[in-house]
Amino acid sequence: MSLTKDQAHSRASGLAIETRAFIDGSFTASSDGGTFESVNPATGETLCAVAHCTAEDVDRAVAAARSRFNDGVWSRAAPEDRKEVMLKLSALIRENAADLAVLESLDSGKTITDCLHEIGTEVANFFQWYGELADKSFGKVAPTGEDALALIVKEPAGVVGLVLPWNFPLLMAAWKLAPALAAGCSCLVKPAEQTPLSILRLAALAQEAGVPDGVLNVLPGMGETTGQAIGRHGDIDIVSFTGSTEVGGYFLRYAGESNLKVIGLEMGGKSPFIVLDDADLTDDLIEHAVNSAFWNGGQNCSANMRQIVDARVAEAYLDKVTARAAAYKVGDPLDPDTDIGAMVTAEHMARVTGYIDKGVAEGARMTTGGARKGAGFFVEPTVFAGLTPDMAIAREEIFGPVLGVLPVANMDAALQLAADSDYGLHATVFTRDIDRALHMARRLPCGTVSVNGFSEGDIKTPFGGYKRSGSLARDNGVEAMEQYLQTKTIWICQGAPA
Ligand code: NAP
Ligand code: MG
Repeated sequence: MSLTKDQAHSRASGLAIETRAFIDGSFTASSDGGTFESVNPATGETLCAVAHCTAEDVDRAVAAARSRFNDGVWSRAAPEDRKEVMLKLSALIRENAADLAVLESLDSGKTITDCLHEIGTEVANFFQWYGELADKSFGKVAPTGEDALALIVKEPAGVVGLVLPWNFPLLMAAWKLAPALAAGCSCLVKPAEQTPLSILRLAALAQEAGVPDGVLNVLPGMGETTGQAIGRHGDIDIVSFTGSTEVGGYFLRYAGESNLKVIGLEMGGKSPFIVLDDADLTDDLIEHAVNSAFWNGGQNCSANMRQIVDARVAEAYLDKVTARAAAYKVGDPLDPDTDIGAMVTAEHMARVTGYIDKGVAEGARMTTGGARKGAGFFVEPTVFAGLTPDMAIAREEIFGPVLGVLPVANMDAALQLAADSDYGLHATVFTRDIDRALHMARRLPCGTVSVNGFSEGDIKTPFGGYKRSGSLARDNGVEAMEQYLQTKTIWICQGAPA
């Protein structure tokens, strides 16, 4: 699906925007009437005021979610009935993808091209795929003698809190919500304060598809209030969180200080893109290199910002990457020709440009980019040469379009440098040698390794991080369902027949 720039702008001006929370099947103001502003990052203008949910609102949503969970309308429904509702929701998302995508682009500064693909294809596919999985997941029978029958069954885990980041607003919601709903859980979704609008619209579609009231609640608000109230709630069984490593740590503390709820964490990264000396520096490789770093304006947890390149090819590599980065089109997110839209907020733009200044001050050499463009929150794709491993721009997650090239002497040095990070989310390796590729893939301490192309995998493959990038929880694949299921043993003692 595609929209011209004029079509996208005309849809944007005619959009009806839902700004209230969605609790127990109704759109509602927050309990104290409080709101916060959602801003269009491409213009800096306020889009609307959104309900800021209080701890009281969280209580109300948990009570509705628990009551629905206990009555079994969703949690004990036949899996094929849950599947049918989720397939309807998937179809409704496809039908409404253009409006959802324009809304998300306005709210986040993401390009319309990415929003249309993520929502019209990926988000819709997630509800379809997990809907289909609902009635295709089997339990187990343990081996016993004839004195027993031992069943190992999975049950929905209960009431879950899904706390989300702003970089892929509806996609991150789908990554968690689709498996949680398929498992039969009742859900509270806390979108990032920067991007609450598309998930509120999705809540209405979920209701239209037949998701029972109370099973899906959306609570916009600030992390410190709404997010913390979810983290500390005594009647939430699980929180699945995607966001920064710092806030992920808060959720572990909240759980420890409340009901010991289970916390699943998907967090930050500083992922390497490794080019060994035998790789051909083709246009395809360079396209993967810049895309791995600059896709979504670098606001991507698995962005490959540490580009570790064998010194024998590093200069040629740098020239090609610099030229390609300089050709990126930065600007109006609603223009389908735009490659990079706006950074999500003015503060975030300042953080990114602060890192660029720090890189220069630390002695790295900027070969392109750096400048801010236009009235909104724009940063050009930026390439640094001459990085050393101790520099802040080589170690810390910038979450903007800032790529650094680190030359290394050989494969072992590349592996050592790649592994020298607090994070462990993703890595890309380019080599023509299958033995070197497999050696690197096995030794890199991270959740996903992509060989001869940048890829995060797809719906079928688990995604998550080692070290401070994540917990053992995984999003995507059948593994994601495990986050939302309890395991029960039913041991039936067998007597002799009469
Ligand atoms: P963030 O600041 O950690 O926020 C994530 C969520 O936590 C938001 O909903 C936020 O609410 C909430 N929150 C913030 N402070 C809180 C607190 N004190 N108590 C409870 N909740 C709180 O992360 P972000 O800036 O939105 O997203 C960027 C980060 O996400 C990056 O580090 C990126 O690497 C990571 N990320 C990881 C993955 C992955 O799969 N591993 C995917 C995407 C992004 P507010 O919006 O109100 O602050
Ligand atoms: Mg916004």
